[in-house]
Amino acid sequence: MSGTLYLCATPIGNLNDITLRTLETLKAVDLIAAEDTRHSRILLDHFGITTPMTSYHEHNKYEKAGILVEKLLTGMNLALITDAGTPAISDPGEELVRQCLAAGISVTSLPGPCACITALTISGLPARRFCFEAFLPSEKKERRQVLEELKEETRTTILYEAPHRLGKTLAELCEALGERRLTICRELTKKYEEGWQTTLSEAASFYQENEARGEFVLVLEGRSAQALAEEKAREWEQMSLPEHLEFYLNQGMEKKEAMKQMAKDRGCTKREIYQGLL
Ligand code: SAM
Repeated sequence: MSGTLYLCATPIGNLNDITLRTLETLKAVDLIAAEDTRHSRILLDHFGITTPMTSYHEHNKYEKAGILVEKLLTGMNLALITDAGTPAISDPGEELVRQCLAAGISVTSLPGPCACITALTISGLPARRFCFEAFLPSEKKERRQVLEELKEETRTTILYEAPHRLGKTLAELCEALGERRLTICRELTKKYEEGWQTTLSEAASFYQENEARGEFVLVLEGRSAQALAEEKAREWEQMSLPEHLEFYLNQGMEKKEAMKQMAKDRGCTKREIYQGLL
């Protein structure tokens, strides 16, 4: 019988946020895999947990996940903790989960703190539908691509950012997306927690002037669905008649229906559209 991998969420600032089940599990398992064993030692010492630890981080995750899977296959139970928050959310946990599932090992998650959800709940922005972008890619082309996609994203978007890159990221977001409401969540669950309800332009100019300190989550308003629909509906203005037809055909319309819609868009008759297309 193989053991179980327990994903244990740990506090993102306030040690009291650890759950009773996480404490019991960290005491009971045979081994704890931690992103930074020195950092996690402080947490474990605080709660009197003496379970042995091993390191599992971004730079050893592929081969170390294999070693941990071997241990689980012998029947050992393992807990995974990362520097803070929920393992597998924007940290190396994902790879271990993937390898465990591929080896038929049972994986369970003990819910607890997670910076993105904590930020969303205090943002004051719509929380019914949201998307999580984590850190924007650092590679230029990929980053541009994500910024392009965000232009059309109508859901509230949650981003992580390191303090030394915050000013640059806010300036780029502002340039790509224009004005949007934004809540900057800083030092969540800690003594100086802040939730600043601002806008992209105000935050970008503030962080041009002021150094960012602490940990940040950005919660960004989605694009207005109505404005997006209006923009889409006007796209034909830049198109020739055949392009306009193609546009609707690509959306799955029948030719007749497309020509009717084209006439409506252009304020002319279907006959004029037909003749124009000849
Ligand atoms: N697994 C973690 C989770 O569940 O949220 C996230 C790990 S990710 C590597 C670290 C990022 O989370 C930080 O750069 C910051 O953007 C965000 N973060 C973590 N703790 C935070 C806090 N107390 N306040 C604000 N943001 C935090």
